[in-house]
Amino acid sequence: MHRPSILDFTREELSRQVKPPFRAKQVYNWVYTKYADDFSEMANLPRVLREELAERFVLCPLKMLTKQVSADGSIKYLFELQDGHTVEVVLLLMREAQYHADGTLKHHPRFTICISSQVGCKVGCAFCLTAKGGFMRDLTPGEIVGQVLAIKKDNAIPPHHRVNLVYMGMGEPLDNFDNVVHASRIFSDPDGLSISPHRQTISTSGLSTKILKLGQLDLGVNLAISLHAVDDELRERLMPINKAYNIESIIEAVKQFPVNARKRVMFEYLVIKDLNDDLGAAKKLIKLLSGIKAKVNLIYFNPYGGTEFKRPEEKDMIAFQEYLIQRGLLCTIRESRGLDISAACGQLREQNRMNQG
Ligand code: SAH
Ligand code: SF4
Repeated sequence: MHRPSILDFTREELSRQVKPPFRAKQVYNWVYTKYADDFSEMANLPRVLREELAERFVLCPLKMLTKQVSADGSIKYLFELQDGHTVEVVLLLMREAQYHADGTLKHHPRFTICISSQVGCKVGCAFCLTAKGGFMRDLTPGEIVGQVLAIKKDNAIPPHHRVNLVYMGMGEPLDNFDNVVHASRIFSDPDGLSISPHRQTISTSGLSTKILKLGQLDLGVNLAISLHAVDDELRERLMPINKAYNIESIIEAVKQFPVNARKRVMFEYLVIKDLNDDLGAAKKLIKLLSGIKAKVNLIYFNPYGGTEFKRPEEKDMIAFQEYLIQRGLLCTIRESRGLDISAACGQLREQNRMNQG
């Protein structure tokens, strides 16, 4: 049996495990804001406590295996877990222009970390490489939190620098509901990573009952729906889960989801050439999303060896986007960032597995 990780616990849970309880806050500080690599560094803790912690817990349950830097600055990581399974995580870098009080314009780096929730995925979408490797297991809360901590450390991102999280790596987060919710609480602790729920986005293939359950918890996290098709027939072909949770059930669940006043529900629409890239689909999308505070993110399908699907034409993407915008629906196009390191979900891990034969 592997030891639990110190990253598995909320501060409150930790305070029930260490004595006296106030030590939990110090441990949190060492781990999440001073980026300690070892319990022995935690200088303001008594030696016996440091030794006890080292016996009972591991500090970080994952180890960096490979790292690839893309031309656009994105970095893609492959991490190994204690049982030898691997997961991938991507750091996306953007520059955000901001006017300062003195009127000068400064560019700040904005970090988005694309995290994984499972090793593999059960959902089995036809276009997704993660699905090809099958499902291995859920990630623990510590393995989810550890991805973010490891990346902040590796890039020396200052502890309080703003970071956004998106569950768009490997796995279906709502299929690992309890651990993802737990991780969200650990992320948002002001004495820890301090990533507010408004900076956390859960992307789902549309498990309607779990969307309702998540909404009832009212955590304040953002929701992204991987829609990809506007009629059930095509959606079933692309995403077999649509047989259990059809488009209507997803839309109904989204309508009940509490959305922050300044936010919208994001609908991800993976555009595949000659399949869902026509204006007829755009028209249906408008109808489907009417009455929802929505924004649409069109994603270029990122092809890989052996897939039957094709990358859409730029002109069709733009026509689709303009159709939506002209009718009042917010819509962005996601450039396949990190294309040269194949940054779409599951692709690095599959390459690694194939190389190993
Ligand atoms: N399981 C969740 C979250 C992980 S998938 C979900 O499906 O929402 C994250 C995103 O990667 C999804 O929007 C999915 O459509 C996208 N994706 C998967 N394969 C892709 C590919 N080949 N090219 C581009 N995006 C892809
Ligand atoms: Fe799973 Fe998401 Fe990939 Fe579908 S797209 S197989 S839900 S990871």
